[in-house]
Amino acid sequence: MTDCLFCKIVSGDVPATIVRESAGTVAFRDINPQAPTHVLVIPRDHHPTVGELAASDAELLAEMVREAHNVAADEGVAETGYRVVFNTGSQAGQTVFHVHAHVLGGRGLNWPPG
Ligand code: C5P
Repeated sequence: MTDCLFCKIVSGDVPATIVRESAGTVAFRDINPQAPTHVLVIPRDHHPTVGELAASDAELLAEMVREAHNVAADEGVAETGYRVVFNTGSQAGQTVFHVHAHVLGGRGLNWPPG
């Protein structure tokens, strides 16, 4: 999708600090980190939301979750604990409609979230 910011990160047209890549995904540091580890895992293909991705390509969603865990392991937070968040829809705070998993860790994370 030509006007999608995260598609442009996948293509290299918008810069990002990429920390991991797999066949179907790219992981990069969030530009406005909310925790010591804050990485976004996105599919290379454009899908707007996690629900749409689950319905259309469940294996790609599984690859995103595997990569989220791999990011946590790379960052040294897999043992202490980390959170994977899919904001879905505007009321939940989704601002970029190219599905992304937030991987957050490196500090205590409150529950319930804000
Ligand atoms: O869940 P939500 O759609 O709000 O998340 C989008 C995230 O993308 C934000 O955390 C924002 O900081 C991040 N972002 C980024 N690089 C950009 C634009 C947005 O990491 N160039």
